[in-house]
Amino acid sequence: MNFEQRILNVELQQMSNLLQTPIEYLKGVGPNRGELLRKELGIHKYGDLVNFFPNRYIDRTRYYKINELQNNAAEVQLIGKIINIKTVEQKRGKRLVATFVDDTGQMELVWFQGHKWIRESLQLNVPIVIFGKCTSFNSVFNMAHPEIELLSEHEQSLRSALQPVYPSTEILTNRGISNRTINKMMQQLFLETQDQFTETLPNYLIDELKLMPKKSALFNIHFPKSAEALAKAQFRLKFEELFFIQLQLITKNLIRKHKIKGHPFTIVGENFNNFFQNHLPFDLTNAQKRVLKEIRNDMGNPAQMNRLLQGDVGSGKTIVAFMSMLLALDNGFQSCLMAPTEILANQHFIGLSELAQALNINIKILTGSTKTAQRKIIHEELENGSLHIIIGTHALLEDKVKFQNLGLAIIDEQHRFGVEQRSKLWKKNDIPPHVLVMTATPIPRTLAMSLYGDLDISVIDELPPGRKPIQTVHRFDSNRLKVWKFIRDEIALGRQIYIVYPLIQESEKMDFKDLMDGYESISRDFPLPQYAISILHGKMKPADKDAEMKRFSEGKTNIMVATTVIEVGVNIPNASVMIIESAERFGLSQLHQLRGRVGRGAEQSYCILMTSHKLSNDSKTRMETMVRTNDGFEIAEVDLKLRGPGDLMGTQQSGVLNLQIADIVRDRDILQLARNYAVKILKDDAPLIKPEHATLRAVFMELCKKKNIWNYIS
Ligand code: ADP
Ligand code: MG
Repeated sequence: MNFEQRILNVELQQMSNLLQTPIEYLKGVGPNRGELLRKELGIHKYGDLVNFFPNRYIDRTRYYKINELQNNAAEVQLIGKIINIKTVEQKRGKRLVATFVDDTGQMELVWFQGHKWIRESLQLNVPIVIFGKCTSFNSVFNMAHPEIELLSEHEQSLRSALQPVYPSTEILTNRGISNRTINKMMQQLFLETQDQFTETLPNYLIDELKLMPKKSALFNIHFPKSAEALAKAQFRLKFEELFFIQLQLITKNLIRKHKIKGHPFTIVGENFNNFFQNHLPFDLTNAQKRVLKEIRNDMGNPAQMNRLLQGDVGSGKTIVAFMSMLLALDNGFQSCLMAPTEILANQHFIGLSELAQALNINIKILTGSTKTAQRKIIHEELENGSLHIIIGTHALLEDKVKFQNLGLAIIDEQHRFGVEQRSKLWKKNDIPPHVLVMTATPIPRTLAMSLYGDLDISVIDELPPGRKPIQTVHRFDSNRLKVWKFIRDEIALGRQIYIVYPLIQESEKMDFKDLMDGYESISRDFPLPQYAISILHGKMKPADKDAEMKRFSEGKTNIMVATTVIEVGVNIPNASVMIIESAERFGLSQLHQLRGRVGRGAEQSYCILMTSHKLSNDSKTRMETMVRTNDGFEIAEVDLKLRGPGDLMGTQQSGVLNLQIADIVRDRDILQLARNYAVKILKDDAPLIKPEHATLRAVFMELCKKKNIWNYIS
């Protein structure tokens, strides 16, 4: 840290001294509760409590009528009166039941405990306000253990109409730290520290966006004066949170571009031009052209490219990769393409070799099963530079693999390789190669922006022309006979079929049994010599896998029974039917990936999702989504809503999703706005040294310190 930074930090500390006070010093907390708050909620200091936000509010501004009630266990409040009270005997003890009426109907209030005391306190025919959860039983609405208040008192009470509900844990509830306790602590905190809440955003931004000032935003998030004030407070705090994340990510990106040198590929040479003019197997789609241009631009600069190439299955990423490799070659550099599985590496090798046929290029493949003699040749050729393009699996990461001059590293399906593994590829080089990460897992742009704000993103959002959309249906296991009939018909037409079983690690043994049972029964229903069946699973030796794959791709077998090993990248155009067994056990993106294995040829293709009758609501939504759309991005959006961003592949690597208040899915508009402003501000004043950005800089640096991005920067 330099002197200037240190000064700023000191200022910042003085500014927020009180907010640094350990939480147990707050009146009403003390050592025991302090310990609980630390352990259960991560609240260590005053400042943590201020930023501990409610996750919902109970709306006590609204009064329901009995005829408006719904059987959804929502918390509601009503005005009315009790007209009679009785004790009802039941198997397990008694319950006290009061009849409550308003001018639209009647309902029951029920108590299972405290009868005597309650009976005494209830007054008949006096206007009261009741509050609680409402359910319906035998078409009569009832509320158990309602909060009751006389209407006259209710009208005079001063509490906020919107009552915050804070996140809690079982331990906290059991130890008597209720929502009300937190509420009281919060009040105390505000009494003691309110003056310390300083503005964190520049004034012009607050004016321009009509943001609520920080101090009142914090106040209204905990003690909303009205629904309107609450909405403004939420907007302000969400914006702030997302804005600072974007500020960090974009800064990181700017610095990378400045600091991390790369090889500038300035020549568009013989190989590229020859291929482009004479050997393109088809016209590139506009999306492919655009993406290629983005990549060329990046690689033309003396800074390292770090680009994510997204494109749905079948969108044609391979040729983009190939042409980027030709650029590297024309500039005198080697390239590598790393795939997560041997099958995939093989397919890439075959595909790229085909594209390169007419060119004079040395392409080889290196995997775990490459023979020692061949391996030696590859190692030598890589080191002396005569091998131009190497395709492979993890085997490329071994220490023995040394490049003469690696200029471009392409990584297929990024979520299978960690960031660290990736950088192993170029530890050996002084100047790192350009990096292109290809993924068919569509990440919604909003999420990509926050996850990979430090990567550049290219999207192929257009499929090659002439593709017939895959028809998808959902069938129950009980309809299997019809599905089998459909398969026979398709096979009679000369097509091939995939049948995929789930194989999920935790229950691997059972799943494996499912797979083998399925294989046996399919073998019985589709017997030799009329039908031939392949099987493919992770426990097979690589050589056996390849042999089976080859049999199927050459059309020697009609059906491929497999686990998800075929999920990624496998390309067999004649396969037109994908049957997914126990489809309810797959996530949406996986279902979509599997479906992408068909629809690659000229024929109409089908995907059949087989499930049992018993389905959770989420499973139903997944099936419906798959049947409704082929659009990977739309599917990813639904997936994100069902699972939350934390579950998406690859997101674990990123600490940025640890959000306090914003929600990447719901608040995507705010995210976009925050990003636009972050870009604008950094364009104008990247080091944040203008006077109007002084606070911004201070807060930003504090954050960088916390999130450890500063290490990276200096
Ligand atoms: P993915 O993005 O899934 O890796 P591929 O690169 O394997 O997709 O391409 C899928 C199929 O589409 C391949 O058979 C490829 O030859 C073909 N293809 C790619 N681009 C085009 C195009 N512009 N026009 C026609 N066919 C194309
Ligand atoms: Mg591919």
